[in-house]
Amino acid sequence: MDMFGKKFGNEERASLEVAEGSRQTEWKKTSFLRGLFDGRFSWSLVHPFPEQAPEDKKTGDDYIARIGKLLKDKLDPEEVDMTGSIPDAAIKELFAMGAFALKIPEQYGGLAMSKVNYGRILHYVASYCASTAALLSAHQSIGVPQTLLDFGTEEQKQKYLPRVRQGTISGFALTEPGAGSDPSQMTTTAAPVEGGKFFLLNGEKLWCTNGVIANVLIVMALTPPKIVNGKEKKQITAFIVETDSPGFEVKHRCVFMGLKGAQIGLLKFSNVKVPRENIVLQEGAGLKLALTTLNTGRLTMPACMTGAGKYALRVSRLWASKRKQWGSAIGEHEAIADKLSTMAASVLAMEAMTWYVTHTADRPHADIRLEAAMAKKFCTETNWNICNDALQIRGGRGYETSRSLRERGEGEEAYPLEKMLRDARINTILEGTSEIMDLFITREALDTHLGKIKPLFDPHTNIWNKLKTVAGMGLGYALWYPRLWLPVLGVGNLAGVPPQLKGHVLYAKRKTRQLARGLFHALMIYRQALAKKQSLVSRFVDIGADLFAISVVCSYAAAQIKKGVSGSETADLADLFCRIARSRIARRFGEVRRNQDALKKEVSRNVLDGRYEWMESDISK
Ligand SMILES: Cc1cc2nc3c(=O)[nH]c(=O)nc-3n(C[C@H](O)[C@H](O)[C@H](O)COP(=O)(O)OP(=O)(O)OC[C@H]3O[C@@H](n4cnc5c(N)ncnc54)[C@H](O)[C@@H]3O)c2cc1C
Repeated sequence: MDMFGKKFGNEERASLEVAEGSRQTEWKKTSFLRGLFDGRFSWSLVHPFPEQAPEDKKTGDDYIARIGKLLKDKLDPEEVDMTGSIPDAAIKELFAMGAFALKIPEQYGGLAMSKVNYGRILHYVASYCASTAALLSAHQSIGVPQTLLDFGTEEQKQKYLPRVRQGTISGFALTEPGAGSDPSQMTTTAAPVEGGKFFLLNGEKLWCTNGVIANVLIVMALTPPKIVNGKEKKQITAFIVETDSPGFEVKHRCVFMGLKGAQIGLLKFSNVKVPRENIVLQEGAGLKLALTTLNTGRLTMPACMTGAGKYALRVSRLWASKRKQWGSAIGEHEAIADKLSTMAASVLAMEAMTWYVTHTADRPHADIRLEAAMAKKFCTETNWNICNDALQIRGGRGYETSRSLRERGEGEEAYPLEKMLRDARINTILEGTSEIMDLFITREALDTHLGKIKPLFDPHTNIWNKLKTVAGMGLGYALWYPRLWLPVLGVGNLAGVPPQLKGHVLYAKRKTRQLARGLFHALMIYRQALAKKQSLVSRFVDIGADLFAISVVCSYAAAQIKKGVSGSETADLADLFCRIARSRIARRFGEVRRNQDALKKEVSRNVLDGRYEWMESDISK
């Protein structure tokens, strides 16, 4: 079936078909964001803010205290950055305390931590050493433990999960030199041999985090295509691969601007023999497995970003209140106060979004694929801005390395802000770039509509079925669409929400309806070509992100005040965040109507065609 239409070239259409065929299609569980994009503002899913059970919190608190001590005793993040490696002694002790088996159930030798505690632990580690957070996260969020817990057979779990307590490190190998955001371009093959009992893996995998030191990997590879409806269909299959297998080679350890201690490599597979029983899920289901693993795995990212953002805020606070220039502390100058207040409001929003989604992930009736993607995009971009502002607040000291600051003496505080900025930059790229998150979120946000109108675009649907679809749609939309224009009279339970925040919750409900109308109108105007209107859809996604952030911030602030963690000043902070977010939302709705998208497209075409090459004169080439 062709749901992509003639606007797409053959190659693009083929990639989209592979991605579409590997989507998690079922939507059986609750999702605040899915409702939001449909015009439903399910405040009761957000408020009261989810709470960690006291025993679970104590387990997390105790573990964080222990891992904090271990890291401070055994691992110097500056040394990791300089030498490009995490000391073996520290890794050994991390294994001993189960840091590589946090989410693995006790029956397989793991610590059986809740997702909230896992997130809290990674949040702490990321605030201390980003490379160590990458090591633990790549192994547990997307590597062997998560993949096998979600999709492994009992035999696979029993064979591989206990090994994780004994020193096994894992990674996830999807990306290739020619296949980044578009995994359908992969060329690594797994050819069946010996009557299909084994497969021979051949090809290269790029930038596999932990790949240089991993003992076992989840590797996605092409298995022989299938013929479906007379057409050849690519089959991508996931394999568990032991790195001591003959034919496996680390071809190159990659070096980046940040994450210097992470062991990320280009891996080569030359006739690596893998038994059939190492297929995870089933033959041909490897891309679905990879994308589904990333859907929840990328949830670790917001926790790490929140940890890092809080550290940057702390450094900024300490410095801006101490450093005096022009007669007062720099934090008293309005330009710096602007940055500090925005940073604090943004940290509150990251915190609220992260813990809302993480708590929700622990609930069996919730589907967090949209929330995790949104939180990943929001928190990685917000943290980048926060780290950048923190560096600006530190002035020249922000640009100086922590080692140089310390060695310079004179009581300089050796805050590693330049390292934080280097470490932070990759996060808007890996585990799904921000641009790909926009496309993913839009696809899922429109799923209800696409499910209804797909038969209309399908050349194989006969005219009677098309008419039946139109009739069914007419009835459904006659009930749904007018509701989006009704005035908002209330949102339900606002108990505990500070007075200055109640209006923001009502606003979020009102704008939710405007967002759903806007998306629906855009779909009706552009139909399949909406997927090509990336600037337009990214505005809708950003509006959705801010509405989500406003909702969770109001609920989170109420919870913090109720618990006595903070006083009414947190209501002011949430109020500030909501006001900033509302300005952004107003601007984006305005840009939906009036924008420079067409002119930008024309200019970028000229750039690509080299028509402004004359401006590249007198530079080094
Ligand atoms: C430090 C590091 C660690 C990594 N760890 C792992 C790992 O453990 N396992 C693994 O499998 N991979 C890993 N990766 C790969 C990472 O996931 C990819 O870098 C990412 O998926 C993007 O692919 P790419 O870099 O090839 O960019 P490309 O896909 O070439 O994209 C380049 C730019 O074009 C944009 N773009 C691409 N397609 C579209 C589109 N359709 N519409 C709009 N914009 C588009 C992208 O957003 C990006 O801005 C890692 C990468 C790095 C740098």
